[in-house]
Order: sequence, then structure tokens, then C-alpha cells
Amino acid sequence: MELTRREFLKLCSASAMGMGLSQLAVPELVQAMQEAASSKPPVIWLQGANCTGCAVTLLNTAHPTIAEVLLKIIDLHYHSNVMAASGELAVNYMDIIAEKAKGKFFLAIEGAIPTKDNGVYCCIGEKDGKEMTILETVKELGPKAAAILAIGDCASFGGIPAGKPNPTDCKPVSAILPEATIINIQGCPPHPDWILGTIVHVLLFGIPELDEKKRPKIFFSETIHQNCPNYSYFQEGKMAKKFGDKGCLIELGCKGPMASSDCPLRKWNSGVNWCIGVGAPCIGCSSENFPDGMSPFYSALPKDKWPKKDSEIV
Ligand code: SF4
Ligand code: SF4
Repeated sequence: MELTRREFLKLCSASAMGMGLSQLAVPELVQAMQEAASSKPPVIWLQGANCTGCAVTLLNTAHPTIAEVLLKIIDLHYHSNVMAASGELAVNYMDIIAEKAKGKFFLAIEGAIPTKDNGVYCCIGEKDGKEMTILETVKELGPKAAAILAIGDCASFGGIPAGKPNPTDCKPVSAILPEATIINIQGCPPHPDWILGTIVHVLLFGIPELDEKKRPKIFFSETIHQNCPNYSYFQEGKMAKKFGDKGCLIELGCKGPMASSDCPLRKWNSGVNWCIGVGAPCIGCSSENFPDGMSPFYSALPKDKWPKKDSEIV
């Protein structure tokens, strides 16, 4: 079967019945991805300064399962959490793939890039008996890749490792390779649908439409606030004063107006629930300004930063 880009985007769209790719990754989608697999380019996944949460979120994808993703959809050649090889053997293999598929492979990078003291604070392996830093590896492999997927807030914008006081001078991938073709998949962690949906779009149809911050528009074009079920409470000025109250959570520190993603529609854990759905304020993890610009998490934004109510818009 042939899946058109339009059909794929519809499958990815959380507004399609409020379900995410996790629920909508129907056999047709898996089949289409498999059919594209014969020509699928290799993917190399590197990890810099991070908590491995982005890898864990992908490993938790429910439909398709991670086994289907790894065996049938992505031609993943290097990923320190899931590959069997280790040490110099793995590193040498990564170099061979990068050379053999030069200009064709996709480089997924999870984590920020520590740059202080030549990047010595994040070593990811050894080559010829010498430690390899993520900084030098990204500089070496990045220009050979067809495109770079910066996965999560840390790789996309610096995230927690680049938060104040940033002792290792962590930077996002775009600061290391300003000329590279980069797709920023924000989130701390990103939803598995955002990662998988972007990877599959790249493999089947090329680079998806991006916004000015290089984020795929299909997942990140609206704020949490715009689609929040508490939006009408906000409009009426009915604010929750303590956890458990009915009402908008802005006085309890909600940063939904400053974060852009489809969490209210897609939800998490295979559509079970999401932050505001369980009564917790959004801490703005889908934002280029996370975490410093969203801190302190449970304190209200100053009123001049509140979004306008519909009645205030002229
Ligand atoms: S401020 Fe937060 S809780 Fe209130 S409507 Fe916006 S996103 Fe929802
Ligand atoms: S609702 Fe807010 S804090 Fe929760 S995952 Fe989405 S962007 Fe992050």
C-alpha cells in the first residue's frame, strides 16, 4: 500500500479524534513504513549531556512497539542503550556507517553538548585509545549527515544541562553546527509520537514543515493554553486557588501559555492522561526557554505575562 503525505500527517495529527500516533499507528502505517524500509537510510543516535529520558520515551512507544520500530522501521546502527556492540568495535562501526552512507544517514542527537575545556565533560567512547567527546563526534559526523534530529529540549535548545549556572557550558546542537539541516524535536522528554512521527516523515517524505525555531509544525504549532480544557475557566476568570480546585491553574504556576505542543489533544502514556488532566500545572517543558524561563515551576507568572482573554483582544 502507499501512504500519502497527507494521510500520514492526518495520522500524526492529534486533533484526529484526540488520538495520537500511539493509538493511530494502525497496521497500514506500519506496513507503509516497512515498504519504505527497503530504501531507508541509516540512523545513528548519539547521546550527549542528558538523562536518557528521550531514549526511554521512545523505548516506551506502544504502537508500533519498540521492537517493530527497531526491526522494521528505523535502520538504527548506533544507539548506546540498545545496540549489542560496545567499546571501540561500536565506535569503529559508527564511523564506517557514517562514511559509507555519507550525505544519506540521519544523525539523531539526544542531550546538550558540553563545550567547556574542549568538551571533556562528556565523553562517549574511545577511539585509538583516546577518549572521544560528544563535541568532537558531533562536529565530525554532523557535516556528513543528510539531516540532524535534535531530540529533546537539551539537544534542541540546551535544556536542563544548559540551565544556570551551566558549569560545563552546554550548548544546543544548532550552536555547534549552525549551517546544518536540523530538526528540533522539543520536550523534556518529547512525546514518543513526536520523535517517531518526525523520523518516519523524514524517511518517507523528507523534512517536515518547520517553524522559525526549526520545530515540526505538525506537533508544535499551538500553545498548551490554546487547547487546554481549562481555557473557558481562564476566560471567565475562575482560577484554582489550591490543588484540586476546579479552574484554570495559572495562579498555581501553569506555564501552558508559554509552551507549544499538542499535549492537551495527544495526551501521554498511550492517551491515558496528561499533566493538566491530572490537576498539575504545565511546567512548560515544550519550550525553548525550559527550564530557566519557566522557573520557579509552581509560582504564578507575573500578570503582565498572562495571555489576553478573548474579551481583552480588540
Ligand atoms: S493557564 Fe494553564 S490551566 Fe489555565 S487555561 Fe492556560 S494552559 Fe490551561
Ligand atoms: S503539559 Fe506542559 S509540562 Fe506537561 S508534557 Fe506538555 S508541555 Fe510538558
